[in-house]
Amino acid sequence: MYAQMTDAAADTEAGSNIVDLRSDTVTKPDAGMRRAMSEARVGDDVYGEDPTARELEERTAALLGKPAGVFFPTGTQSNLAAILAHCGRGDEIIVGDRYHSFHDEAGGASVLGGVALCPIGTGPDGSLDPGAIEAAVKPDDSHYACSRLLCLENTVSGAAVPLAKMQAAADVGRAHGLAVHLDGARLFNAVTALDVPAAALAEVADTVSICLSKGLGTPAGTVLVGDEKTMKAARRNRKILGGAMRQVGVLAAAGLYALDHHIAGLAEDHRRAKALAEALSELPALARLSARQATNMVFVTPAPADHGALRRFLTDRGILIGGQVPEMRIVLHRDIRDGDVEAVIEAVRAFYADRG
Ligand SMILES: *Cc1c(COP(=O)(O)O)cnc(C)c1O
Repeated sequence: MYAQMTDAAADTEAGSNIVDLRSDTVTKPDAGMRRAMSEARVGDDVYGEDPTARELEERTAALLGKPAGVFFPTGTQSNLAAILAHCGRGDEIIVGDRYHSFHDEAGGASVLGGVALCPIGTGPDGSLDPGAIEAAVKPDDSHYACSRLLCLENTVSGAAVPLAKMQAAADVGRAHGLAVHLDGARLFNAVTALDVPAAALAEVADTVSICLSKGLGTPAGTVLVGDEKTMKAARRNRKILGGAMRQVGVLAAAGLYALDHHIAGLAEDHRRAKALAEALSELPALARLSARQATNMVFVTPAPADHGALRRFLTDRGILIGGQVPEMRIVLHRDIRDGDVEAVIEAVRAFYADRG
């Protein structure tokens, strides 16, 4: 999925006309962000002396209503450090089977932490069914792993999970003594779509991880927030995992800039995704594509026979999209403009016109 695109993707830095809709991770730091990075006050963060990293940790924690935060290079490492802070060897996590921390993190919690992963079905809206959580919790019996942590996620494949559903899942988990971690890699997309404060979504969980390098447009970085004790453990885990960095204020400055300037723009990504999904659904030849929007993402399911040809047709025209058979994923982000959306609609129209 990634390798086939590299030649075309390599052109994107050269200012060519590539429209890269594979993911919102492809966003590049803009001029204002690069200026903030170049002017960042820095120090050795392993000594706790980087003022900009500290400021980002404090600001993010405050925004999410938690006492403390830790800056990580990636969301995968942040999730893993949180899981290892909550769980020991022989403990178990209950997690959605489509969630990143189960499906897309190379089984890190098991590989490095001896933690068992117990996946349960993820609803079409990205939520977990409280009954399924309850059924997955193990009794205190020597046959079983010790159920210790419930991992939630929001957004899930673009879907913003409503606060009430997150609360219902967390309530069941807590009733059984589980801690709750929220993988909020795209939490601000959920905040934007649901129109609830970030702290309200964060409140259902003990620890929350948010990515700065997706729709918010930084080159790297994730912040984990939670209580002081858990963050102290997470900071130690970050060291164990090789993620403690030095003059990291250069990256933290990008994160602060994103919190100040880029959250509002997520609504534009959602607006463009909606417009794209509607336009694709309205093309007469495409009614069967059944385009579907979820926050900044559009999913399209062409006939299996058209899948590879459509993808190649778009790539030949400099339009890169993501997803795997049967579903294509088109991700809107801050480096995409209305004209790019028009170009995608025109190209898809042309593909089907070609086929009569
Ligand atoms: C992207 C993502 C992460 C973390 O990804 P990294 O590439 O490691 O930063 C975690 N969870 C979800 C839901 C994600 O989309």
